[in-house]
Amino acid sequence: MKIYRSLKAVQIALRANDITCLSLTQSYLKRISEQQQLNAFLEVYEEEALASAQVVDDKLKLGTAGRLAGMVIGIKDNICYKGHNLSAASKILDGFTSMFSATVIERLLSEDAIIIGRLNCDEFAMGSTNENSAYGAVSNPFNTKYVAGGSSGGSAAAVAADLCLASLGSDTGGSIRQPASFCGVMGYKPSYGRVSRWGLIAYASSFDQIGPFTHNAEDAALLMEVMAGSDEHDSTCSEKAVPKYSQKLTNDKTYTIGYIKETLESPALDYEVKIHILDKIKQLKASGHNVLALDFPYLDYVVPTYYILTTAEASSNLARYDGVHFGHRSADAKDIPSTYANSRTEGFGEEVKRRIMLGTFVLSAGYYDAYYNKAQKIRRLLLNKTQSIFEKCDFILSPTSPHTALEIGKTYHDPTQLYLEDIFTVHANIVGIPAVSLPTGIHSNGMPFGIQLMAPAFKDDELLAISNQIMNMK
Ligand code: GLN
Repeated sequence: MKIYRSLKAVQIALRANDITCLSLTQSYLKRISEQQQLNAFLEVYEEEALASAQVVDDKLKLGTAGRLAGMVIGIKDNICYKGHNLSAASKILDGFTSMFSATVIERLLSEDAIIIGRLNCDEFAMGSTNENSAYGAVSNPFNTKYVAGGSSGGSAAAVAADLCLASLGSDTGGSIRQPASFCGVMGYKPSYGRVSRWGLIAYASSFDQIGPFTHNAEDAALLMEVMAGSDEHDSTCSEKAVPKYSQKLTNDKTYTIGYIKETLESPALDYEVKIHILDKIKQLKASGHNVLALDFPYLDYVVPTYYILTTAEASSNLARYDGVHFGHRSADAKDIPSTYANSRTEGFGEEVKRRIMLGTFVLSAGYYDAYYNKAQKIRRLLLNKTQSIFEKCDFILSPTSPHTALEIGKTYHDPTQLYLEDIFTVHANIVGIPAVSLPTGIHSNGMPFGIQLMAPAFKDDELLAISNQIMNMK
């Protein structure tokens, strides 16, 4: 069957009776079984997806189908779907079944999306290569020796390899944008508070957001329109009205786009990625946009600030996995201390343990002021600086990642090097602004890479509109 890369194309084919949701779903299931070496899916909901496809086909005949009819979607294995297993790619949640569905899942289903399976990721969304998954790394569809990125590696690879039309990931410090960059798809992290986190397994609650992976801005905008908006279950979710993102894409506004000089001067930046950004700047100017060079003297602080604050939040969020409430309990649990200690020792992977310990350390009496409190102050400083930048420009342009996908197994044993990978992406999460990675580059090594754009908080509509413009630039 022909491969479809937009919901619009799928819906045209459905209307023309070229395909049905059932035949479309069957073709995705076939591709999934042919591409198992990617290790993108942890579970495929084969029968259920076929049954939902049939229901959507019936609704289409009656004219009662929702806006996402024909959208076959995969979900990251940290988003609850009632009655389905959920593991956050961790052994500690072995055998756990969700008792309710995340708000985003309810909203997707209410518009007739077809959920095809749950996708591999780094354990508890901690990582940049998907190698921290208890179920193994995800291979990059462009070259299986390379990682798909992380933590939402399965979500990026599945869309890139056409195993589903779109997918959901979560982004705490770049986990949607970086794998999107590595796999050549669009990855969108909404403003903090735009999309409900209810039903998302928490890593760092003041950073986490759910967002879509797609091939284009139209599909991202429609998914955002369906998912965003207030939720009684999540008090951090904004009450602001949700604009009709999908209808605001065709503006031909000219914008002022700033780029941070320090990001292009970073010694870690691949030369071809740098040249690509400089070319994009020229292209944006040629299309009538203003481009501005900006100073951002705090670039060296973003990664340490991110890792202090997120590990602190993680140490608290992950305290609930104790061998009593959820999932794995050690066979060696004799009393309360041995239940906790042995279940956590056996259930958590190395990176998750490292972060829980780091977070516990930065929150401990005696170190709280030196680390946690100081990082909170830097968070405020970064917010103020970012707001002052947005007085001068509409968007900030940068690379998404310093380079293309890493080789599997190469950096796995060097956590500090991996933390530095997040240099361009964590900024948006620290200050709560929306950010996107757009798949505009192909490196001479054959691998894709993206550019990142960030916008002021709740300017998701403008960010999606400029994304659409850039994706359609030749
Ligand atoms: N790579 C980052 C980390 O390891 C981002 C993770 C994320 O966004 N969930 O924390």
